[in-house]
Amino acid sequence: MSTNVDALVLGSGPGGLAIASALCKEKLRVGILSATEPREEWPYTYGIWGKEVDELGLEKLLKYRWDNTVSYFGEGSKEKSSKKNQATIHSQDYGLFDKQKLQEYWLKQCEESLVEWHIGTASGLDVNDSISTVTTNDGKIINSRLVIDATGYQPAFLKVPNEGDIAVQTCYGIVGKFNSPPIERNQFILMDYRCDHLNEEEKHAPPTFLYAMDMGNDYFFLEETSLGLFPPLTIKELKERLHRRLENKGISITHIEHEEHGLFLPMNIPIPDLNQPILGFGGAAGMVHPASGYLVGSLLRRAPNVAGAVANVMKDKTKTPKEIAQIGWQALWPKELRRKQALYQFGLEKLMRFKEEQLRSFFKSFFALSKDEWYGFLTNSLTLKELVRAMWSMFTISALNVKWGLFEMKGRELKLLLKFLNPGI
Ligand SMILES: Cc1cc2nc3c(=O)[nH]c(=O)nc-3n(C[C@H](O)[C@H](O)[C@H](O)COP(=O)(O)OP(=O)(O)OC[C@H]3O[C@@H](n4cnc5c(N)ncnc54)[C@H](O)[C@@H]3O)c2cc1C
Repeated sequence: MSTNVDALVLGSGPGGLAIASALCKEKLRVGILSATEPREEWPYTYGIWGKEVDELGLEKLLKYRWDNTVSYFGEGSKEKSSKKNQATIHSQDYGLFDKQKLQEYWLKQCEESLVEWHIGTASGLDVNDSISTVTTNDGKIINSRLVIDATGYQPAFLKVPNEGDIAVQTCYGIVGKFNSPPIERNQFILMDYRCDHLNEEEKHAPPTFLYAMDMGNDYFFLEETSLGLFPPLTIKELKERLHRRLENKGISITHIEHEEHGLFLPMNIPIPDLNQPILGFGGAAGMVHPASGYLVGSLLRRAPNVAGAVANVMKDKTKTPKEIAQIGWQALWPKELRRKQALYQFGLEKLMRFKEEQLRSFFKSFFALSKDEWYGFLTNSLTLKELVRAMWSMFTISALNVKWGLFEMKGRELKLLLKFLNPGI
């Protein structure tokens, strides 16, 4: 069978559905080819700052929302009153998407525009001056003017340059009940870096933190996380650390409702080659925030602009797939965003090298920035100028050991700084 659409989106994860629905809104004829069914449950839990969904008018898509949001960057101490135990209060709501509602939100927009669904695995691609042809494992042929690869971190066709080792965030988490509440009721903890459960030797090993939330009805979600590392920490190490952390507080698990057996999130995926004749979107296209690992807010904000640019250039029927893709890439990764990405990746390199104490000190200073600055940094919503200013402020208020770590150039850091200065065409 052979079909024709304006744009063919590969993949139906958050990236695929976000761009497909935005293209549908532009009244293009859109096809989706995915290895998974449209309503297949997504594997992860998607967190987002409350303000991000509010600004998009999508707060109804949240399943949970917390206003008691804190982090801990002290050393930790068993005495509750100790200064070392003090919380950094974020005064910024945080939420978890109801992922079924989020999926329905995008699917509704697609289905209203009669999107053409194909279930199958894309295995062949041919792009010439007039058409792009994708073939599937079972012999289906789909023609389109533009192919958008949204097949995740190991994309089907996108060419992504090899810029060295990929830093991976690893997590081990449980949803369960405990003999006493492991965190305060109604609380969300972004990062608990307290480390008084570790011995001196372990404090020199790669640091990990607790990401935790009260899920209601006596259930809590606790996740031991390593921010980004190469090679990544093993799940066994993370599991042991979580148990030690709880034991240290005299807390035991009484019931496990759900156990995450190890999640891996690549953090510093390079921006793809912007000269290729297909477009990318989502995790495949380097859109994951290198500092936070978050993506969904960015998908929601960036999809309409990219879809608008693609729809506009498609009005000219003489444009080749490559010319259309080029316009799409420039809308997705304009120069300013690429410069910011280089800075974020530079920052991640630094964080990966920091030891326990340095990292705690770094984050303490980071969250001492104004709320607009740290929130804007984490959501990639600062302008380049604002980002540079925030990073400079961060440097000036940092402790000496952090300043030295930020100043000292190692590995690919210099290369990333050069990329910030000159991100190419
Ligand atoms: C552990 C973890 C936690 C995360 N937590 C958050 C969070 O809290 N907040 C946040 O914003 N982001 C988070 N992310 C980041 C990001 O939101 C997710 O990784 C997201 O799933 C990426 O979406 P995607 O659509 O780009 O890719 P995917 O979700 O991987 O979807 C890929 C799609 O492509 C299809 N596919 C693959 N190959 C082919 C092929 N050859 N042909 C056809 N179809 C194909 C698959 O079936 C699937 O439908 C997290 C990521 C991970 C790994």
